[in-house]
Formats: sequence, C-alpha cells, structure tokens
Amino acid sequence: MSSTLEPQAPPVLVVGEQVSFARLHGRACWDCDAVSSLLTAAGLIRLQGGARVWEIRTCGCRPKTASTQ
Ligand SMILES: [Zn+2]
Repeated sequence: MSSTLEPQAPPVLVVGEQVSFARLHGRACWDCDAVSSLLTAAGLIRLQGGARVWEIRTCGCRPKTASTQ
C-alpha cells in the first residue's frame, strides 16, 4: 500500500495595499524593508486583483509564528 499525501499548498496572503518592488520580489525584508543578503523565505502573497503569487522574504526581525500581537 503506497498512499502518498500531497503536501498542502501554503497559504497565500492577499495584499490590497501598494507594495514596493523590492519587497514584492523578495529583495527587501517584508516587515521592515531592510535590504539584506540574509533574507529568508517568509511566505507567499498575492496582490488583490492579481493572479501572480510572489514569494516574500524577511530579515528575521519578526518571528515567523507570531502568537502574540
Ligand atoms: Zn526585517
């Protein structure tokens, strides 16, 4: 018996506001806009009304799992 569970697609955050080119392309931190060479993938976003999904990155200034606001 070989039943492979397909990985669930990651949630895509829909953004309605204007986003800078650098942040959209993962060249700057999504949270603080810092340009660093140590940016890590932080999820996927899609602009409201757009079809393209972008991979955003952060410099680590904010924990990935923010349980407290
Ligand atoms: Zn940052």
